[in-house]
Amino acid sequence: MSSAYRVPIAKLRRDLPASTELNLSALFDEGKTFEPKGKAETDIAWDAPIDLAIRIESYSGGLRVKGSLRAPWRGTCRRCSSPIDGLSEIALNERFVDPEDLDEESYLIDQDYIDLAPMVHDAVFLDLPLAPLCSATCKGLCPYCGIDRNEATCECQGEADPRWATLNSLSFDNEEPAPGAE
Ligand SMILES: [Zn+2]
Ligand SMILES: [Zn+2]
Repeated sequence: MSSAYRVPIAKLRRDLPASTELNLSALFDEGKTFEPKGKAETDIAWDAPIDLAIRIESYSGGLRVKGSLRAPWRGTCRRCSSPIDGLSEIALNERFVDPEDLDEESYLIDQDYIDLAPMVHDAVFLDLPLAPLCSATCKGLCPYCGIDRNEATCECQGEADPRWATLNSLSFDNEEPAPGAE
């Protein structure tokens, strides 16, 4: 199976220590190995390439891959529900080892190749925002009439609906807890 993420490393390991630079721009997972798990609202942009700029270094116990990647993603603003195109920029520093040395924090050297796809998959999916915002100042939708408060204003005021009060007290990782919230 050929893939842009499959990199020959025999020469690197023969001429120990050695290193090589690799710049790669390729669609992720054309072979559909990593099917999305469930319907996450935020997902990698499967039709746009991931850019990878790495350095592969050989040492006696294996290979080290250092560098960075840029992965486009798509999501939905949790306040106003508008679509968002985002970009994850992620630093990489990972080990690749022979099968007998494989542990939970390393990736596999498959004879004369390494497959960068599992490393890229882990990095990207860990970094995807769970509850993205279209902007830090997004005003969201009016809970009464549904108007997009970023684009228009409405006359809705009045008593806070207790159902929405509960929602408003929910806090997210990247936000200060609402007053009175646990
Ligand atoms: Zn928004
Ligand atoms: Zn309204």
